[in-house]
Amino acid sequence: MSNPGGTSRGNLWPEMVHNMRFPAPESPRGDMKTSFDRYLLYEELTQTLNALAEKHPALCRVESVGRSVEGREIWLTELTNTQTGPASEKPAFWVDGNTHAGEVTGSMAALYLIENLLEGYGHDDVVTRLLDEQTFYVLPRLSPDGAEYYLTTPHTLRSNPRPWPEPEPEPGLQPGDIDGDGHALQMRVEDPNGEWRISEGDERLMVPRAPDEAEPGATYYRLYKEGVFENYDGFEKKIARPFHGLDMNRQYPYRWREDADQGGAGPYPLSEPESRAHVDALLARRNVFSIHSHHTFCGAILRPYSDRDDKEMPDHDLAVYKAIGDRGTDLTGYPNISVYHDFRYEEKKFITGAFDDWAFDYYGVFAFTVEFWSLPQAAGVEVKDFINFFRDPPEEASLKMLAWNDRELGGSGFSPWTPFDHPQLGRVEVGGWKTKFTHQNPPPKFLEAECEKLARFALAHASTAPHLEVELRTEELSPGVRRLELRVENTGYLPTNVTRLAADKKLVKPVKAVLRLPEGASLVSGEPEVDLGHLAGRSALVGGGWKGPAFFQGLPSDHAEHYVWVVRGEGPVEVEVRGEKAGTVRLDGKAEGTRS
Ligand SMILES: [Zn+2]
Repeated sequence: MSNPGGTSRGNLWPEMVHNMRFPAPESPRGDMKTSFDRYLLYEELTQTLNALAEKHPALCRVESVGRSVEGREIWLTELTNTQTGPASEKPAFWVDGNTHAGEVTGSMAALYLIENLLEGYGHDDVVTRLLDEQTFYVLPRLSPDGAEYYLTTPHTLRSNPRPWPEPEPEPGLQPGDIDGDGHALQMRVEDPNGEWRISEGDERLMVPRAPDEAEPGATYYRLYKEGVFENYDGFEKKIARPFHGLDMNRQYPYRWREDADQGGAGPYPLSEPESRAHVDALLARRNVFSIHSHHTFCGAILRPYSDRDDKEMPDHDLAVYKAIGDRGTDLTGYPNISVYHDFRYEEKKFITGAFDDWAFDYYGVFAFTVEFWSLPQAAGVEVKDFINFFRDPPEEASLKMLAWNDRELGGSGFSPWTPFDHPQLGRVEVGGWKTKFTHQNPPPKFLEAECEKLARFALAHASTAPHLEVELRTEELSPGVRRLELRVENTGYLPTNVTRLAADKKLVKPVKAVLRLPEGASLVSGEPEVDLGHLAGRSALVGGGWKGPAFFQGLPSDHAEHYVWVVRGEGPVEVEVRGEKAGTVRLDGKAEGTRS
């Protein structure tokens, strides 16, 4: 590092880029199944997606929905059995990953879901039915630049590697790898006034000094992130804001607040090409009914709102969020919680501009932020109060996590404190958790189990789609005059409007039936295009805000609707029933009867 005490300009730490050793990309894959015991770089991910599309042309298509800041294509995978109808005419489940650069588990889990859908088709009944009747849109890596930077350098960053909020590093501590071991860890510096001491339970662990603690002869420490101080004056130790501080999950157009009010929000909503591509891709696919957005870490199934009490959510939507989220808990062991009530980073502050809130409130679907992986849980620690736990883990829990590291990783997840002559601070010790693949993402050997667990939740949630079944009953009234009765039923769990909010805000079109007559025929009664309104799903049972016992009075048949046409003239008619999020069903008249 040249002139570490002075002000450096331009790319910070350029010499450290590509310093971190990761397995070299393999030669282009053939029929090999991905082994989920490592994290793929962008080129490998691209090759894998293309190879899967090539291998399963009737089920899988890959397209780019935009380009990142550095010009990488943002891949979206479309999965459905195209022989049973085009993707756009089926209810669709959307999965995305890696909005946050370092949360690379999200993209691997998305890839895992893609592979398992494709490999399971024709073997697994649930997968086969889902791909026949529905569509999956899977966008594995929304921040391809950020993920690449995270995977190939010692640095961590929140989203993309565009400098924000300032174009140059701010004065103060800029984290990085000063000792050249490939990791940006922590520094501890002896200081009699320090806030930290060494734990009596494990000499690697630093614990806060008690309020009244002043033991004669004891050694106390200051703790810093490993790095150098930009523009250091030899005395004042400032902590700079992150150089790459943009947080895409604060810049969706849901009650967006400016950066001064909420750090990371960026200059304006969707200012980044990646977040913009995300929203544009969804707006171009109105058949999406539900979303899982993959993040790490802490092991939780998060739901809206981030900024409002549950009471402000329509009864139906809150009940359904709880019902589906609780299924997720059954399948994963991760709690289903409201961000506002149980996941506030700061007690007195709430976040806005988050993707799941936008997806629920403006796009009109059920969206969960799935936070993968919990090291504490893996280590046998029970975490109740998430945010406080991760801000200030109890000593006992930290000891258990270190013991887990020794047991499961041979100690490799924690770098022992090692003396180092810091160019500004003098003698320090560098060490601490290698957080990238211990805390933030599962160590590679735990990755596949994590992907598998959350894929089960995705399939369960996908199975709640609204689903139309259509029947046309024909009766001859007199020679050449027919009575046609169309019966439409939603046999899915979710209503055709999906959320109550979407119906109230008219974010989703009502179910529509269209009759097309043969040459020479005419309508005696009825309209050729009919608005059937929305059809309830089985969620109506909980959606009234009250679920009665089995002997309650029952629900009206709001899940079904019918319509009668009287037609004069011979020849087959065509009927098309369209639900924006429930799919399109066509009866071609020659085979009048039931179709779904
Ligand atoms: Zn995240």
